[in-house]
Amino acid sequence: MASSVMTLSTENSEDIECFIDISTCDSFAGLPNIFDYGDEAHMPEFLSTEHVEGRVQQRFELMCRNRKEAITLHRAHGHPNNRTLLLNLEAKGLPYRHLKRYVLAISCDAC
Ligand SMILES: [Zn+2]
Repeated sequence: MASSVMTLSTENSEDIECFIDISTCDSFAGLPNIFDYGDEAHMPEFLSTEHVEGRVQQRFELMCRNRKEAITLHRAHGHPNNRTLLLNLEAKGLPYRHLKRYVLAISCDAC
């Protein structure tokens, strides 16, 4: 294959240059683009991975905060039954919906 190309290039150098140009466009000239796209594709993926990790971290922190808030409310309300606590919160007009599952999941050491 290589030798035939070499032979052709000596006989029809213009054609071969054309062929080489095309092949260059297809492969080598395309490579920077591929790398650029690769980088671009890589970067958002990298960022999105970080973003997702950040989201997971945020969610975890929010979960801990809500859990803490729920147990704090439980103590503040005199260690009521979890459902009673929810009713208390609702009766007081306190925002409790985001805490509902945490309130229901409270397991208090003192109770
Ligand atoms: Zn309790």
